[in-house]
Amino acid sequence: LGPTVAVGEILVEIMATSVGDGFCEPIALVGPYPSGAPAIFIDQCARIGGAAAMIGAVGSDDFGRLNVGRLAADGADVSAIRVDPDYPTGSAFVRYRAGGSRDFVYNIATSAAARFGWSAEVEALVGRAGHLHVMGSALSMKSAVEVIERALPIVKARGGTLSLDPNLRKEIVYDAATERRFRDLVAAADLILPSGDELARAAGVDGEAAAVARLLETGVKEIALKRGAAGATVFTRHTPPVFAPAFQVEEVDPTGAGDCFGGAYVACRRLGMGIEAALTYASAAGARNVTRRGPMEGAGSRAELDAFIAETARHA
Ligand code: ATP
Repeated sequence: LGPTVAVGEILVEIMATSVGDGFCEPIALVGPYPSGAPAIFIDQCARIGGAAAMIGAVGSDDFGRLNVGRLAADGADVSAIRVDPDYPTGSAFVRYRAGGSRDFVYNIATSAAARFGWSAEVEALVGRAGHLHVMGSALSMKSAVEVIERALPIVKARGGTLSLDPNLRKEIVYDAATERRFRDLVAAADLILPSGDELARAAGVDGEAAAVARLLETGVKEIALKRGAAGATVFTRHTPPVFAPAFQVEEVDPTGAGDCFGGAYVACRRLGMGIEAALTYASAAGARNVTRRGPMEGAGSRAELDAFIAETARHA
């Protein structure tokens, strides 16, 4: 029907090489790595062989060239990525704390990442899109919201579908307008990919079983619930739940696991795979990605994921 399209922030990530609290002292850093949740998603989608395209913006600088170059090399359509002449590519500095939580210094709202909108290139892409993927984190970005709200009815009218990764972040202020947009997207979504308490937030009801039932009743066709190293489960209205145990890997950097999982799952389902096969590739993509430093560095091609699946044990 047309490519899977993701809309939102394109960033570089620069990581501290030491564990510790924040950035209030000079520390060693490594990067830049291509990043941004929707960009990671679409890169994994493209790498696995699904038609994939990105809507967003970068600056006219090396960080932008790094991102666009990577996405294009991995097979994504970059025609609707705007190159901003005036603002730099967005960035995120990240440092892990001893307990596993992360400190960030972001430059998104005041960067090229947040400065795009409806353009001739975006219109042409949306006019041939078969699937739209939205991250909840995009809902606080005016530019992304404008594009999503215009694109969704066009994609749906063509018989296309919508997936939503709630991707709720503590840095985002969920005011009434953001909350309403989130509710509208949940109502329009064919597939939701939550993790942790995002399931209850999306459903508006507590408890896994009740939340799943509520979402399926209200029209969501599939829920892919991500449980980190505890695996993932897909629920649909008409089939029993399908659980995939996680692969046993050494976690080097958990960032991007959920985005790679989602990109692989959507690409595989859109390529016509059944739930079980798609879930296996998605679990492999998530697990492989945590074994490498950098949020997008472990995204895998179909052949790489086949090899990973063949040689990696799963948790019981
Ligand atoms: P993030 O927000 O960090 O990108 P998420 O919370 O959306 O991630 P996770 O549940 O952490 O998503 O990861 C998605 C999937 O990737 C999991 O369901 C699992 O299959 C795989 N995965 C993630 N972390 C691990 C791990 N440490 N070991 C094995 N598999 C993992």
